[in-house]
Amino acid sequence: MTGEPLALYVHWPFCVSKCPYCDFNSHVRASIDEDRWRNALLTDLAHEARLLSGRTLTSIFFGGGTPSLMAPTTVEAIIDAAAASWVPATDIEITLEANPNSVETARFADLRHAGVNRLSLGLQSFNDEALRFLGRAHSAREGFRALEIAQRSFRRVSFDLIYALPGDTEASWSASLGQALSLGTRHLSLYQLTIEPGTRFASMVGRREFEPLDADAAAALYELTDAMTSAAGTPGYEVSNYARPGQESRHNLTYWRYGDYSGIGPGAHGRRLGARTVRHRKPENFLSALAQNGHGIVEEEQLSSVEAADEALVMGLRLREGVDARAIAERFGLTSIIDSMRVERLVGSGHLELSGTRIALTARGRLLLDHILGEIAAAEPRVHAVAS
Ligand code: SF4
Repeated sequence: MTGEPLALYVHWPFCVSKCPYCDFNSHVRASIDEDRWRNALLTDLAHEARLLSGRTLTSIFFGGGTPSLMAPTTVEAIIDAAAASWVPATDIEITLEANPNSVETARFADLRHAGVNRLSLGLQSFNDEALRFLGRAHSAREGFRALEIAQRSFRRVSFDLIYALPGDTEASWSASLGQALSLGTRHLSLYQLTIEPGTRFASMVGRREFEPLDADAAAALYELTDAMTSAAGTPGYEVSNYARPGQESRHNLTYWRYGDYSGIGPGAHGRRLGARTVRHRKPENFLSALAQNGHGIVEEEQLSSVEAADEALVMGLRLREGVDARAIAERFGLTSIIDSMRVERLVGSGHLELSGTRIALTARGRLLLDHILGEIAAAEPRVHAVAS
């Protein structure tokens, strides 16, 4: 596998406060021992490097939590260790997620010097009332300021918005999205608000403190998003991601195209050499595991070819380019990975489109993503007979 591409995900699990819609692995702590965490992440990285020597490192992604709260020297130490452990691609993409608070904005220049070359900014909204509802710790004004500084500091900047909030209409979302598209960004992540179990929003909905936007209204906003982003030359390339051609997130494409990636830090998932890895979620448990075992892994499972093919199909169908079903079947030694009759039916109903052996969701199909994925996976994919 020497020379094969590899992506690295680094999870920083801490946030200043917990947003009410968030089900990510994020934790609020009174104090964080930065030295201890730097050493822990470096040890976790060294474990992956031992198992994957000689690989070409195509991207690093610092996610969270709030990785813009990391000291830039910690970010630099991890980038340096990764570059020394693998062979960095000449065009390596190094992304860091940031919140637009002034403390974090002040670090952008240092993060760039540390080696970060792409910033993903969690703006979430341009409206102060919506930001308050989402429990965000920044104002719309701070968001604009952070974007301006980010665009001056980094060659590639993406930002996130959350829409389909209670009360959102086509008129209000079209005004916000129009504003977003006028800000010169070449990559956008546009997520619909979903109420995840276990979050504060889930309890609030349970107590009828607010009602989520209904599914038809949310679907209309999704279609509007599609039309406006395409017209602006920033079309969707994944269910919630939009980019000018060539500006797609290379790191996330590795996930969706089912490439190998190491995931280090609390709760990080990874996929290497046919195995799925999961790290301890709780920061304190992660540190104990690391002290004991030299890595933070809580689960490591070798996937069967059927499981791997199924994952590759599910991940790939999130992309507009879709998947080559035959190529996936061949990659995992299977005769087929889809139920052809069901695929034909979904093509007929306008949810899927077929081009040769490639399958992709249509705009209508993307609205029913989970349902379609369940429909087309073959009931019993067959494994090629192996000559003994
Ligand atoms: S800042 Fe991001 S990771 Fe942290 S609680 Fe809010 S949504 Fe979750």
